[in-house]
Amino acid sequence: MTDRSGNSIEGGCICGAVRYRVSGQLADVIACHCRECRRMSGHYYAATAASQEAFEITETSGLAWFGSSKSSRRGFCRVCGSSLFFDHGPNEPVGIAAGSIDGKPTLKLAAHIYVDEAGDYYAIDDNVEQFDSLRWRNGGWDKLRHDDPR
Ligand SMILES: [Zn+2]
Ligand SMILES: [Zn+2]
Repeated sequence: MTDRSGNSIEGGCICGAVRYRVSGQLADVIACHCRECRRMSGHYYAATAASQEAFEITETSGLAWFGSSKSSRRGFCRVCGSSLFFDHGPNEPVGIAAGSIDGKPTLKLAAHIYVDEAGDYYAIDDNVEQFDSLRWRNGGWDKLRHDDPR
């Protein structure tokens, strides 16, 4: 798979013990400010997503998963601590930390979510749409998809 310039998309952790490749389109980036993402990332979590079929983990020696809920797990590197994946199960797109992609992919930030749980030490003032937890749970994802011109 390729990005808009025809290059393949790869990424991984700081130390190289987890690497992945994406062979399809990457979704727009969503920044999640929920308490869990704040702890996992140390700030807030910005993730793109790919279909399970298009996503392949090519180096797993450092890969570890944390079961963050009954239906989801978070992937990270147990060697260097990089936060990498958010897996919601086999039928859902896999979330990929936007900062873990090699080089400078052309990705666009589409939304800030769970803004009611955001830290009080930063402002969200970039004119990107914001969803609080209630609005996000009540169809926010569908609304975003609807707005997506692709
Ligand atoms: Zn690593
Ligand atoms: Zn979150």
